[in-house]
Amino acid sequence: MKIYEAIESGIPLLKSHEWEQDRLHISDLGVPCDGCPRQLWLRLHGAKERPLRLGELLMFDAGQRIHDRMVQALELGGLQVIDSEKPVSLDGLTGRYDVKLCDGSRTIIADFKTVRGAAFQYLVEPKPSNIAQVLGYTTAEDADGAAIIYIDREGQNGVRVFEIDRNDEEVYANVAKLKEIASGEMPPILKPILEQVERKQFITIYLKQPWNCDYCRYQDVSCDGALPPDLRGKEIAGRVKDGKYEPENDKYTAIVEGLLNV
Ligand code: SF4
Repeated sequence: MKIYEAIESGIPLLKSHEWEQDRLHISDLGVPCDGCPRQLWLRLHGAKERPLRLGELLMFDAGQRIHDRMVQALELGGLQVIDSEKPVSLDGLTGRYDVKLCDGSRTIIADFKTVRGAAFQYLVEPKPSNIAQVLGYTTAEDADGAAIIYIDREGQNGVRVFEIDRNDEEVYANVAKLKEIASGEMPPILKPILEQVERKQFITIYLKQPWNCDYCRYQDVSCDGALPPDLRGKEIAGRVKDGKYEPENDKYTAIVEGLLNV
């Protein structure tokens, strides 16, 4: 019996909300903060991308189930849930917020973010891109404020909540940046990141891709990515000793020297 094959072909057919690739969404408001403008441009222009992997589809599905349970918990816990998953629009952008809450006096748009348990230790403040998104829904829905609810996908670290003030000015500034990306030329490929680790007598140099490329479905299909495949191994590229770069691995040298400006 072809059980694995049935799951693999059945999971993509599970019902989820329609999502138009070729238009701007309120969730894109995070792009000017830490996203890749080229990735957005490629999506809007219908570029070819790799299909979602089974693991990615399962992760999205699990995230949706956690969201649904959280809405129930908020209601059982005494907050008024005015609406959830409601479609909204803002200055030509469309989207669907997670939940609108009321505590009797103020309305809040809350966005759920499921994250890996290991990421919780670094979660001292909300990510700027997450703030930009939830503020977009808040302006669109004319709510009093916003909240981001981070949930440990694996459970053990629980939940962390950050409340955020409404900021229409920032929202419209980001909307303008998105429209500029959408109507402009294809943005450049992101630059590789030069990581410098201080040792006792020298600095070790590593080259790595921005995280955006690691997760990007256009990489190696419609975009070359920040680094070619054979340079993505996170090996030592070289060292800086007495102010001079000493290559350890020649294949990285030209890029490192360009980034170091030597
Ligand atoms: S591969 Fe990297 S540079 Fe290219 S579109 Fe994706 S994230 Fe942007």
